[in-house]
Amino acid sequence: MHAVTPLTDVYTHRPQAFFDAYLFDLDGTIYLGDEVLPGVRETMTALREAGKVVRFLSNNPTKSPEQYAEKLTAMGIEAQVSEITNTIVTTLWWLRTHHPGATVYPIAEVPLMTALSEAGFTISEDPSRIDVVISSYDRGFGYSKLQIAFDALWFYKRAILIETNPDRYCPFPGGRGEPDAAAITAAIEACTQVKCVASMGKPSELMVRAGLAGLDIPLDRCVMVGDRLATDIRMALNLGMPAAVVFTGETKPQDVTVDYANAYRLDTIDQLIPLS
Ligand SMILES: [Mg+2]
Repeated sequence: MHAVTPLTDVYTHRPQAFFDAYLFDLDGTIYLGDEVLPGVRETMTALREAGKVVRFLSNNPTKSPEQYAEKLTAMGIEAQVSEITNTIVTTLWWLRTHHPGATVYPIAEVPLMTALSEAGFTISEDPSRIDVVISSYDRGFGYSKLQIAFDALWFYKRAILIETNPDRYCPFPGGRGEPDAAAITAAIEACTQVKCVASMGKPSELMVRAGLAGLDIPLDRCVMVGDRLATDIRMALNLGMPAAVVFTGETKPQDVTVDYANAYRLDTIDQLIPLS
């Protein structure tokens, strides 16, 4: 563990040239709740006019990519469904790659259940048939779901445990929040002593790989922009990819330690656009 050493303002705060692709976190970066954050619309307009690739990466699996594209568009931010990568997208991708044909038990909300069914995965509540237990952000979580996971993992010992995202809580406006997938993973791990083997959200590089799929852009020509150091920024730095932390969400300037010294630091997102 590193000591928390605040940085002094000796590093370059903003990029001095355009990148080819921009990967944005959503909550705390593009909007907070239903409010678009300052500078976002101008930034998006400038990037679109410059012909840059734009992608939106969210750890939140409680909305489908279609719902995110609609939400952004309704806020006046142009977004195509194909530009959205959330943990529904990465979970499907990971399962197709590693466990095609698996019988799954998602502890999850409707959009992930629907996406799994549409992708051809069998969803079962029979612990003797479950291959993969998927821990997720599920506001309908309760004891009966925990029992099914327990039986599949501990009693039948046939299933593996994965999670959509490693977040402890989802931040809300006004400093409040909701328990997120890490709480459900922890409950399952605590009673089964079975460890979660894979996490589909930031800081997993799966998010970047899925977001940039089909594009031939080197990672050093892309920048990841987000408000959380341990997820958004850590993921990018682990990949050797440029990163920018924006102080409109969780992170305050004094939170940035030497571990994150290579990240650009932006008070508002419009500082991404180089000064001409
Ligand atoms: Mg965020």
